[in-house]
Amino acid sequence: MNKRTFFKILFYGIVSLTFPFKILAVDKRIVNPNLTEEQKNIMFKEGTERAGTSVLNYEKRKGSYHCANCNNKLFDSIAKFNSGTGWPSFSQALPGAFKTKVDYSFGMKRTEYHCAKCGAHHGHVFDDGPGPDGKRYCNNGLCLIFVPK
Ligand SMILES: [Zn+2]
Repeated sequence: MNKRTFFKILFYGIVSLTFPFKILAVDKRIVNPNLTEEQKNIMFKEGTERAGTSVLNYEKRKGSYHCANCNNKLFDSIAKFNSGTGWPSFSQALPGAFKTKVDYSFGMKRTEYHCAKCGAHHGHVFDDGPGPDGKRYCNNGLCLIFVPK
């Protein structure tokens, strides 16, 4: 086998291996053409914004929080609390707003949640929240749009 054939086989091998994952990921879709690269990285590559960088950490008005990609209504401001983590945090999501998946990245078992409508990743949910459900939704601020009442 010459070098060229080897790389050809390697290339098609990689393509055919990753292809099924692309098919499985069709529920994720970008509907907002104005998303920045950073937003796309968080929402579609499960990235995380740097702690303490979101202006929404300081947002205290009444209103609702929507998906920055598809505008799905996700949280009511009543559920927002200051967790001290540096990310906008909520004790409760609106019914049916999210779907969850267990995430094993970084050697930790965490529950990742994503928008039920467009599949965009938003953050992780933990069981140490202050509300009656005991949940803490740790959300990337860049994935949210605040709509004041
Ligand atoms: Zn969405």
